[in-house]
Amino acid sequence: MTGPRLTPVPSAVSVTVRVPAKVNLQLSVGNRRRDGYHHIVTVFHAVGLYDEVTVTEARPGAGITVRVEGERVEGVPVDRSNLAWAAAESVAAAAAVKPDVNILLRKGIPVAGGMAGGSADAAAVLVGCDALWRTGMDRGALAVLAAALGSDVPFALQGGTAVGTGRGERLTPALARGQLHWVFALAETGLSTAAVYRECDKQRGDTPVLEPRVNEAVMGALRSGDAVALGRALTNDLQRATVALRPQLSQVLELGLDHGALGAVVSGSGPTCAFLVRDDEAALDTAVSLTASGVCRTVKRAVGPVHGARVVEGTGAR
Ligand code: ATP
Repeated sequence: MTGPRLTPVPSAVSVTVRVPAKVNLQLSVGNRRRDGYHHIVTVFHAVGLYDEVTVTEARPGAGITVRVEGERVEGVPVDRSNLAWAAAESVAAAAAVKPDVNILLRKGIPVAGGMAGGSADAAAVLVGCDALWRTGMDRGALAVLAAALGSDVPFALQGGTAVGTGRGERLTPALARGQLHWVFALAETGLSTAAVYRECDKQRGDTPVLEPRVNEAVMGALRSGDAVALGRALTNDLQRATVALRPQLSQVLELGLDHGALGAVVSGSGPTCAFLVRDDEAALDTAVSLTASGVCRTVKRAVGPVHGARVVEGTGAR
């Protein structure tokens, strides 16, 4: 997809930021709050599937443009409804600079896949524009802007493994030992997060919902670096709703487990399915089996935890 025509300045300065996807090792959904969000307790885990975001200085008065590249990016907006746009505006407002910037999003994170790609791009733009405009904000100040943009944005900034509470924006780093190996089965088309939450509410009806708590089995397995125990403990309260909207996902999850995965879970609101596997070799075996079965569009392998949004190229304007 191409956006509006870019307005480069001669020898324009640019900054490129790499930002990871997330998978939820635990996603416990409580009651709906007055503001429409749900109380959640989640364990976020950043994995090595990345978007690369380049912010480039534009002519004074040119404003913001967004361009998107990558597979299946047709539905991604290039106007102010893109969270990346809002992120650029929020840095500009906080630093009292004019938001004249061209944003290029190279998507490696599946769109509407339950891996927080839009939030990742917003976090990347916060880091990128901060460097481009040399605003000198620290990570704490960027985290405040991130929380105002969306529930998953602070974690995309931070990365690693962390417990999220509130609507997911309040983070506490989690003690986690070792590296985890993942296989992700990507679906043909995405799912709307709002539709999945609506389905979850519908399924629950009037049944009282327990206040969500951190899952000690997940935390213990992370602390001891026990991938087998973690595989068994993976949990997602949205999974039943996601599978109700996409019944074929139960087959995908089963197939991965049949082919030796230690655990299988829908990632966030789906439809991406995440498989925890023993090591690199097992990842390749599971990936080959899933690909051969034809139950998903494509398969990706990644390790976690990885860092949050980081500058990989470029420096700001003088
Ligand atoms: P959520 O972050 O709501 O849990 P998700 O992780 O499933 O969603 P995203 O890739 O963030 O999926 O896309 C959610 C919706 O946001 C899609 O409809 C998409 O078109 C829109 N969107 C807005 N900005 C972006 C962006 N920068 N990248 C991807 N999608 C975006």
